[in-house]
Amino acid sequence: MKTVRKAIRDGDVERDSFGRLACNHCDRRLKTENDPDRLHSRKFCPNCGRKWKELS
Ligand SMILES: [Zn+2]
Repeated sequence: MKTVRKAIRDGDVERDSFGRLACNHCDRRLKTENDPDRLHSRKFCPNCGRKWKELS
């Protein structure tokens, strides 16, 4: 799974001036999914289901 940072670099995800993340394919705000191992959280697009991990 790619990181959010790489996804932004690749143009899959866009971060607005408020720090909110959105899927560039669907123009939808990403949602957060709790990861059971708690090492990182995951961001996912509720529309296309793409997922990215966010390192804390
Ligand atoms: Zn999407």
